[in-house]
Amino acid sequence: MTQHIEAGERFTRVAPEGPMVDVMGGSSRWDIKVHDHGFVSLVDCMPRMVPEGKTGDFAIVQAARVSYGQGTKQVSEDRGLVRYLMRHRHSTPFEMVEFKFHIAMPIFIARQWIRHRTANVNEYSARYSIVPDRFYRPSPEMVRKQSTSNRQGGDQPIDAGTAEDFLQLLEKAEAHYQEYLQLTEKGVARELARTALPVSVYTEWYWKCDLHNIFHFLSLRMDPHAQQEIQDYARAMYDMLKPIVPQACEAFEDYRLEAMHLTRLEIESMRTGAPLATQNKREQAEWDEKRRRLGLA
Ligand SMILES: Cc1cc2nc3c(=O)[nH]c(=O)nc-3n(C[C@H](O)[C@H](O)[C@H](O)COP(=O)(O)OP(=O)(O)OC[C@H]3O[C@@H](n4cnc5c(N)ncnc54)[C@H](O)[C@@H]3O)c2cc1C
Repeated sequence: MTQHIEAGERFTRVAPEGPMVDVMGGSSRWDIKVHDHGFVSLVDCMPRMVPEGKTGDFAIVQAARVSYGQGTKQVSEDRGLVRYLMRHRHSTPFEMVEFKFHIAMPIFIARQWIRHRTANVNEYSARYSIVPDRFYRPSPEMVRKQSTSNRQGGDQPIDAGTAEDFLQLLEKAEAHYQEYLQLTEKGVARELARTALPVSVYTEWYWKCDLHNIFHFLSLRMDPHAQQEIQDYARAMYDMLKPIVPQACEAFEDYRLEAMHLTRLEIESMRTGAPLATQNKREQAEWDEKRRRLGLA
């Protein structure tokens, strides 16, 4: 390990113990296109440079070992430690890894996304600049019927005729864009003119968040209960995390994403074979679903 101090500096510059590699392989960004006009781009992450042979998971175990001691440093043991941390909800080591994304999405998606309060966000200003001419339009087969089981969702595709009527309505709403442009040219303030645009218009932002809170975001937004369009973004984001923090993602899938939470009542019912001690129909339906997953029904 080489150390030196430049003239006039108070700190010591410590060289790495071995070669370091860029976890993004030297790319300036990684892009995934989402729908017609959207994208998720990974523009940076921390750690960006890791010792050769390691992944971004390195930063998780490095932080954890401050509290758990050095132990051995084999890659296989790193994996065990990452999995232990995830299982036991020791979340702070996962906060040592950060990802910065550039994202373009329709405003109705941005409204759901911004509810995740732990990220740092910087958004395109439609007060300062003209809104670009980009609108979200689902493909005809993605025009969904209102679900009867989930009041917030849509599931099955609607018939082709009704889908076409809906797409025409979107087209009419998009037609406001030309008038929006003309009125801004006549001098209407951009901050007001934009209010005539539909929520299918796109916005963009830089969104930076730590891995612990990204996993929280993904567990909610990759879930089938989330709106399909935000699921598409969440999955794109996850696909870019996986090569950088493969061990953390594996643990996330095993212990959170594909895992199941059991309530006290459910454990009691499983243990005794008695019906679930509730009159609540939704709670009963949730238990029935879990029993199906467990192969008990
Ligand atoms: C399928 C689905 C349907 C939804 N439907 C609705 C709806 O109908 N109406 C609606 O308004 N919202 C709705 N939401 C949004 C939801 O209620 C949450 O606001 C959103 O998912 C963000 O979750 P969060 O607060 O856990 O996440 P984050 O804001 O990312 O926070 C992560 C965690 O940090 C902690 N935290 C963050 N900020 C604070 C704080 N200020 N104080 C204390 N703890 C904090 C909490 O532990 C939180 O869980 C829906 C979300 C989903 C996924």
